[in-house]
Amino acid sequence: MQLNDPTLFRQQAFIQGKWCDAESKKTIDVTNPANAQLLGTVPKMGANETRTAIEAANQALPAWRALTAKERATILRRWFDLMMANQDDLAKLMTLEQGKPLAEAKGEIAYAASFIEWFAEEGKRIYGDTIPGHQADKRLIVIKQPIGVTAAITPWNFPAAMITRKAGPALAAGCTMVLKPASQTPFSALALAELAQRAGIPDGVFNVVTGSASEVGNELTGNPLVRKLSFTGSTEIGRQLMQQCAKDIKKVSLELGGNAPFIVFDDADLDKAVEGALASKFRNAGQTCVCANRLYVQDGVYDAFAKKLQAAVEKLTLGDGLAQGVTTGPLIDEKAVAKVKEHIEDALSKGARIITGGQPHELGGNFFQPTILVDVPASAKVAKEETFGPLAPLFRFKDEADVVAQANDTEFGLAAYFYARDLSRVFRVGEALEYGIVGINTGIISNEVAPFGGIKASGLGREGSKYGIEDYLEIKYMCIGL
Ligand code: ADP
Repeated sequence: MQLNDPTLFRQQAFIQGKWCDAESKKTIDVTNPANAQLLGTVPKMGANETRTAIEAANQALPAWRALTAKERATILRRWFDLMMANQDDLAKLMTLEQGKPLAEAKGEIAYAASFIEWFAEEGKRIYGDTIPGHQADKRLIVIKQPIGVTAAITPWNFPAAMITRKAGPALAAGCTMVLKPASQTPFSALALAELAQRAGIPDGVFNVVTGSASEVGNELTGNPLVRKLSFTGSTEIGRQLMQQCAKDIKKVSLELGGNAPFIVFDDADLDKAVEGALASKFRNAGQTCVCANRLYVQDGVYDAFAKKLQAAVEKLTLGDGLAQGVTTGPLIDEKAVAKVKEHIEDALSKGARIITGGQPHELGGNFFQPTILVDVPASAKVAKEETFGPLAPLFRFKDEADVVAQANDTEFGLAAYFYARDLSRVFRVGEALEYGIVGINTGIISNEVAPFGGIKASGLGREGSKYGIEDYLEIKYMCIGL
């Protein structure tokens, strides 16, 4: 692997500031989704190693918590600087293990680093309250304290940003962390650990355990030293982890699946809507939890929108993310390809038509053609389930109230998008959509200063923004008698 700094490529787990192998010496293979080549291995750890990491995080907690927020911020700022200084190498590692185009990977590194910078600063603003007393001889004070040892379990679609979105606020608040990254993309996580150590984050404050999801997950959720779990991944696993956390009443933050509607009204700026749909639907080959999953287009602009979107989609270039000019990489694995195929076949059997794509790409492997379906009926699977791939199904609608009802007719509530110019409609629809995030006349909504998170089965808690650090704090009320 050709990196400017080869020592960023780590094939061991990181516990208490040390690089370690599994007790069993077993490893997990990590492959490149663009060509199935073996990139390297990581330790296949289980409950014992996870317990060691949790104990290390617990030992490191008192000293880390005792630093001032400014002292922690200085260290975190160095971590941010190191990420940016090594942006090219981190991006390359990410493209190799995840598949996204290099430009997108570079963008993700900057996005990931921004959470460290932002929360390092936010840590200084963890204000409490004084409350006018309920009795003349009482003084009421509210302070906020770090929750303690935290655990994070992260997915493969954003191998760096989903980690820093959790580690940034946790560490800034004075918590310590044990992270289990996705087994498909552990090298991005391990490179971040290497940089954390160089930045001067003390041993045990940030630990990375690679290995068996269920064994590591069972220990993270079952060990009473862990006070909080933050998870990003599927609703199914999130539900299971929440149940496991119920035993100790651990705090949980969950960023789960979505089923984002993307609505284009007759009064929309169609070119902007196409640009937004392209970004929201096809970024990361459709593998983000805020990707448009269902595109509802009003009758009067349906054909024009479909044509413009088709022209834009046909300009996408598939290939190995490291190659110049590639806009769209492979899907993560065969299972992901199978899901896209299943959604297409189901929609076709119910009367939909393909206007572009629809087939595995000639590059083979995990590459699938960016696809647009028109005349998709409401009964299609894709109306209910997240595809997590490069498939844009276009549904036709006539009436505003009807499309809002359809958009809300899902167990999910993460992101929704709509394009309209009538001001009253903008407020009406924006307020009626049952989602944690609503993009209006834009297809890109994620950044470190805004609260990201879902309602309904899409999760609990918010990441990013001034709200994000609250997920890592406990409120303590002190009642002082005079
Ligand atoms: P995806 O479909 O995006 O892979 P998952 O929810 O399966 O979503 O995976 C997200 C993260 O959860 C990954 O790090 C994965 O290893 C982890 N994971 C999967 N199953 C479990 C489990 N039973 N316990 C703990 N973590 C799990």
